[in-house]
Amino acid sequence: MISDMKKASTIQQIDKKILQLKRQLMALGPMHPGSLSKQYSVCGRAGCKCIDPKHPQPHGPYTKLTFAHRGRFICRFVRAESVEEVTAMVQNYKTFRWIIDQLVDLAIQRAQLGPLCLARMAAKPPSKGQEPPQK
Ligand SMILES: [Zn+2]
Repeated sequence: MISDMKKASTIQQIDKKILQLKRQLMALGPMHPGSLSKQYSVCGRAGCKCIDPKHPQPHGPYTKLTFAHRGRFICRFVRAESVEEVTAMVQNYKTFRWIIDQLVDLAIQRAQLGPLCLARMAAKPPSKGQEPPQK
C-alpha cells in the first residue's frame, strides 16, 4: 500500500496530466469523424474514355469520406479543393478520441486513489504524528 504523501503526489501528477489534456482539447481545431478514400467511377456513356475498349480510363479519383454516426453509415464526396482541410479535420478527430481515451484512463486511475480524501489532502497537507482530521 502506498503512503498518503506518495498518493497525494501521484494525484497531483494525474491532475497535471488531466489539465494538459484539457488544454490540448481546447486548442483542437475543427474535426470530423471518418476515413478518406479514393474512388474511381465508370459512367458507361457511349464513346466516353471510361469505357474505351483499348485504354479505359475511369473518372476520378474522387475523394470519399465515410463514417458512422448515430448508428447510420454515411458516405460523402469531398471536393478536390477541400481534401486538405478535411484530411486535417479527420486527423483532429483522431486526436480528439485519443485525448478522451487518455482522460478516461486518468479518471479511473485517479478514482482508484480515492479522490474525495485526496482533494482534502492536496488543499492541506497532513501534519506528522497526528490523526487525520475528523469529518
Ligand atoms: Zn465515363
